[in-house]
Amino acid sequence: MTEFNTLAYWQQKAASMSFDGRAIINGKRVSSASGEVFDCISPVDGRILCEVASCDHKDVNDAVRVAREKFNSGVWADRSPAERKTTLLKFAALIKEHGEELALTETLDMGKPISDSTTVDVNATVRAIQWTAEAIDKLYDEVAPTSNKELGLVTREPVGVVAAIVPWNFPMIMAAWKLAPALAMGNSVILKPSEKSPLTALKFAELALEAGIPEGVLNVLPGFGHTAGKALALHDDVDTLVFTGSTAIAKQLMVYAGESNMKRVWTEAGGKSPNIVFADAPDLDRAAQAAAAAICFNQGEVCTAGSRLLVEDSIADEFIVKVREAVAQWQPGNPLDPKTNVGAIVDKAQQGRVLQYIETGKQEGATLALGGECCFQETGGCYIQPTVFEDVVPAMTIAKEEIFGPVLSVIRFKDEADALRIANDTIYGLAAGLWTNDLTRAHTFARKLRAGSVWVNDYDMGDMTAPFGGYKQSGNGRDKSLHAFDKYSEIKATWFRL
Ligand code: NAD
Ligand code: MN
Repeated sequence: MTEFNTLAYWQQKAASMSFDGRAIINGKRVSSASGEVFDCISPVDGRILCEVASCDHKDVNDAVRVAREKFNSGVWADRSPAERKTTLLKFAALIKEHGEELALTETLDMGKPISDSTTVDVNATVRAIQWTAEAIDKLYDEVAPTSNKELGLVTREPVGVVAAIVPWNFPMIMAAWKLAPALAMGNSVILKPSEKSPLTALKFAELALEAGIPEGVLNVLPGFGHTAGKALALHDDVDTLVFTGSTAIAKQLMVYAGESNMKRVWTEAGGKSPNIVFADAPDLDRAAQAAAAAICFNQGEVCTAGSRLLVEDSIADEFIVKVREAVAQWQPGNPLDPKTNVGAIVDKAQQGRVLQYIETGKQEGATLALGGECCFQETGGCYIQPTVFEDVVPAMTIAKEEIFGPVLSVIRFKDEADALRIANDTIYGLAAGLWTNDLTRAHTFARKLRAGSVWVNDYDMGDMTAPFGGYKQSGNGRDKSLHAFDKYSEIKATWFRL
């Protein structure tokens, strides 16, 4: 017996795993209507994990028809909230039960360290579904404050057919943040995972069936954005489209909605989040550790990555040394090794994009202080050293564009006004970090930050109780918390003359 949770353990388990890349429509595993497939390539070592169904508009038409039929039949929507809760809790329990297999699948498919996928990814996924399920039978509708001669009911109804298009950086968590409230409200769902990470979503559909979610209520269509994704976004019978991914595609989805049936579009898009360290930060060592984690966790492939580190001039020299030391603790390694804290970049294309940004940073005059190179090319996988650029100014490309890799831009600021100007000078508004011991400054500055999440004296915090989403071109609407239900419901006003 190989010892649990060692490199050998996970390698042995990986070797014994097989994957099914077919779509799930109406509760059945099916090949794409066209018969087209694509290879699912692991960024860990370049090996092909399986063939995946490349769905297009024909499969989308099938799935939307089924989802609509199931919605209209009431087989799920007409169950009581308490019944849907029980079924979703069973779904969460099954995900937990299959946690090891799902975590390993996630690691093989998109390269994140196994120590993260077994803990962060599985746990946050299970928690998202549990929390949302527990909430659904505790939500009351409203009675309007009318005269005694009337009765006004304000009721929430499911929207009907929801399409969810999700990215590859946290495939399970992003899917769960959409699926849980959509299903809890009684909708039918078509989930399109990223072509770069389709496997865990397909497994979800199997577990949902096992939990008792009726056939056809959750359909999963793997495929590319310009085929399956576009067809969902243009479909006239999809009521609501929810998305996490890039700002460019989020904008495109709004165009598709306008060109078709004006479906509701809710997007969680990119970020270029500022992490602002004032000279009076409570603990510079802890701030440096957090700044490193903010850009190295998940290989920097995080929409809230603290990719712009804003440091007050008076402590900059001292603080930057601490940051460099902290980032150096994050070293790429075999994602299957539980000791690894930086895994593989999702694929060659993303690796190329990140390396291109590193090149641009050098050309535009930033100082490369750490990392900046590819590594482990002999493995056939996609790895990049965590990278720190100093002497970055806000006009540089690496200070403006979302890199989605482990590349930190350190920018100095003079005073509070300067920090605020730089922090908000971005098309994005997803998140921001703020380090100060001054209570008044913490509150006033946090209010002025144009971002959906602000963390004071920490970074990347939050659980299901906190809503998550962006200002400006980071999107609209919120995932998590009770606010998430807004995206998956219509509000109906019904008046009675008494
Ligand atoms: P993307 O926006 O291209 O893809 C996200 C999802 O949208 C995928 O499922 C994709 O198949 C789908 N999609 C793509 N084109 C589509 C279209 N025309 N119609 C409908 N669906 C479409 O993101 P990506 O290619 O995975 O990554 C590119 C960049 O996006 C990254 O480098 C990063 O900057 C950003 N990104 C951000 C997040 C985030 O959480 N905010 C997540 C992933 C990627
Ligand atoms: Mn993959």
